[in-house]
Amino acid sequence: MLRAITFFAVVAALSFLVAWLADNPGAATVVWRGYRIETSAAILLGGVAVIALVIASAWRALSLVRGLPRRIRRARHAIRRRRGYLALTRGMVAVAAGDADEAGRQVRRADALLHEPPLTLLLSAQAAQLVGDETAAGRFFTAMLTRRETEFLGVRGLLTQSMKRHDWEQALRHARRAYRLSPDSAWVAANLFDLQIRAKQWLDAEATVSESVKHKHIRAQEGRRLRAVLKHLRGLEAEAAGDAGQSATLANQANRSDPGFIPGADRLARLLLGKGRSRRALNVVEKAWTASPHPRLLEVYRGASAAETPLDVVAAVERLAKLNPGHMESRYAVAAAAAEARLWDRAKARLGELGDAAPAKVYRLFAEIEERQSGDPARGHEWLVRASRAEPDPTWVCGKCDAHVSEWVPVCPRCESFASLGWAIPSAAPALTGPEARGHEIVHEGRRELPPVGRDGG
Ligand SMILES: [Zn+2]
Repeated sequence: MLRAITFFAVVAALSFLVAWLADNPGAATVVWRGYRIETSAAILLGGVAVIALVIASAWRALSLVRGLPRRIRRARHAIRRRRGYLALTRGMVAVAAGDADEAGRQVRRADALLHEPPLTLLLSAQAAQLVGDETAAGRFFTAMLTRRETEFLGVRGLLTQSMKRHDWEQALRHARRAYRLSPDSAWVAANLFDLQIRAKQWLDAEATVSESVKHKHIRAQEGRRLRAVLKHLRGLEAEAAGDAGQSATLANQANRSDPGFIPGADRLARLLLGKGRSRRALNVVEKAWTASPHPRLLEVYRGASAAETPLDVVAAVERLAKLNPGHMESRYAVAAAAAEARLWDRAKARLGELGDAAPAKVYRLFAEIEERQSGDPARGHEWLVRASRAEPDPTWVCGKCDAHVSEWVPVCPRCESFASLGWAIPSAAPALTGPEARGHEIVHEGRRELPPVGRDGG
């Protein structure tokens, strides 16, 4: 629009000028080297304009010719780049499709066309991995370390390679470097944590947990739980090294981090009980019971409550059970204590509240109560038959893979998840025993599980 207006304005101005010059032709005389030209001023002006136009056109044509080779070079370069990127894309597609030959061909093409190693190194490494040449892939990944823009991808590749080789030491080194380069990456943080756990670097793993919470890779509550487990493990190490002071400090810290972490609460309560601090031990157990009841906690509680008569024990256990009244372990604990005090009806009422989905130990206790109340061993038989068909007793079950073991361990023996075991009724699969369960040397104090309270006849 604007161009049209300008054009018309220029045409109008020129027409006006020509008309004005026609009306006012004037006169001009040029004398040069003996020549004398007499003409009108309008023609002289027109002549000058024509000469200027010719010179400008010639100049423009000359510069076009001079710039031609550069423009040809640029155009050829652009075509090469386009072809290079096309090869790069085709190479990526080939890698994704698992076509090693095509990937190799395209990466060589892209390399020749682009001359930009950062773009082709990763693809070269991937193509090498496709044909199983991990050594060549490693070379490409290592080459990527020297450039800032590809360093992270290089470290990531080397880290994955080390983990595949089960070279955990090397993998941990790469993971640390990758983490320094990209602390925001959840993948890197998770791998760094796993490798630190594998190397039993509990303190470093704690730092990684704190950072992961800060970067929102894991929730704050999950962070507190992991820190509790890690501090618990450090406490066990300090104890094994004979450092009782440090061990107690860490037991306290673990419990503060997650009061519901059973092995931590159990350990702290026992340490406190050993020092005669029963009130505090009761406190620790009560807090833990509120979150997650466990027979071992009950055992410490009974020890710390200084109950002397069976009726005192019932009162103490009822106090504890009230903190988590609906839980199976709470009802079972009260029933077992009542049975010991020969309060048969109260015991049966508590067990009856558990319904049909109760675990086997509930029916075994029923059988024992019937036998002892009636003095007739045959009376318990029916309950024992029901026990054999009931849900299995609660045990330590992995929340990730459902594996279950009788003693708490920090790392699941089957899926190697850290801190994944919880006290629960296991699925039908048999418990892990033998080499699979002993895959990790870390075991929680190695204490034998005591039989449920009440089984010893009271
Ligand atoms: Zn598992």
